[in-house]
Amino acid sequence: MNHLAVIGHPIQHSLSPVMHMAALKDKELSDVYDYQAIHVQPTLLPEFIETLNQKHISGFNVTLPHKTTIIKYLDTLDSTAHDIAAVNTVVNKNSELLGYNTDVQGFIDSLDDNNFTYKNKRALVLGAGGSAQAVVYGLLKAGTNIEIFNRTRFKAETLKNRFDALGSITVQRNLKTNDSDLIINTTSVGLNDIDSPLPADLISEQHEVVDIIYNPFTTPLLKEAQKKHCRYINGLDMLISQGAQAFKLFTGIEPNKVIMKEALLSYFKNHSS
Ligand code: NDP
Repeated sequence: MNHLAVIGHPIQHSLSPVMHMAALKDKELSDVYDYQAIHVQPTLLPEFIETLNQKHISGFNVTLPHKTTIIKYLDTLDSTAHDIAAVNTVVNKNSELLGYNTDVQGFIDSLDDNNFTYKNKRALVLGAGGSAQAVVYGLLKAGTNIEIFNRTRFKAETLKNRFDALGSITVQRNLKTNDSDLIINTTSVGLNDIDSPLPADLISEQHEVVDIIYNPFTTPLLKEAQKKHCRYINGLDMLISQGAQAFKLFTGIEPNKVIMKEALLSYFKNHSS
């Protein structure tokens, strides 16, 4: 049996095992692979890496807080992981550790899967944390013009300086106006199901709205988008698409994203309070 995993700290709430196990079963690979969540404290990351072969772990996903610190243990990085200095997928190929970042393409695929248009459009990106790096990098490479707003402005300035050479990116000082086509929330505001990262009067019908949060399923921002009759998506398709690409890297086989989504939706249905 080959073991696959997701590592993080904390990790108990990860939905990756739900969607990966469903995809493995669907592709009749569940006799060959399993997928589990493994809690790895930051100080124990070196030990986890050293024992990969002993534990027969042939690949793993990486989540907070290890996405950057993992890099020094890897033998190669794909160009995206290199450019944004974050890895979310590692393949253990005969003890050679190959690092990938599938968050970037996962985000772009989630827009494509929902027919959102972003090439040569203006996007207001809220937030400048880890996920904003992937979102901004992917959009700039795709030719989207970006405005970032973040509570802590210097972080937005840092993100702009990092990716300035890739395309058009500016920092908004405040949220008084919004002349974007696309609104993307990458902050954690909305996780509490109460707060929205954007004043309601800055959302109107012509906006396409993305909130990369998926739990709650319809965040306060998305509820406002719904009220204004905007097209909107949450972060579930991003989660699935980054996972689908990791699955292909682990197994060589393209998973069925519909099966992965059904597994997650059913999980939400059974675990909603
Ligand atoms: P980070 O901790 O790296 O960044 C958090 C961001 O939220 C920062 O920009 C921070 O601003 C902002 N923020 C936090 N609290 C507030 C607040 N009260 N008011 C204003 N801004 C605030 O987190 P990540 O980027 O890793 O994740 C952010 C969200 O994205 C999470 O909710 C996570 O669930 C979701 N996510 C979804 C994924 C998917 O596949 N769909 C993948 C990864 C993340 P500041 O810099 O000022 O602190």
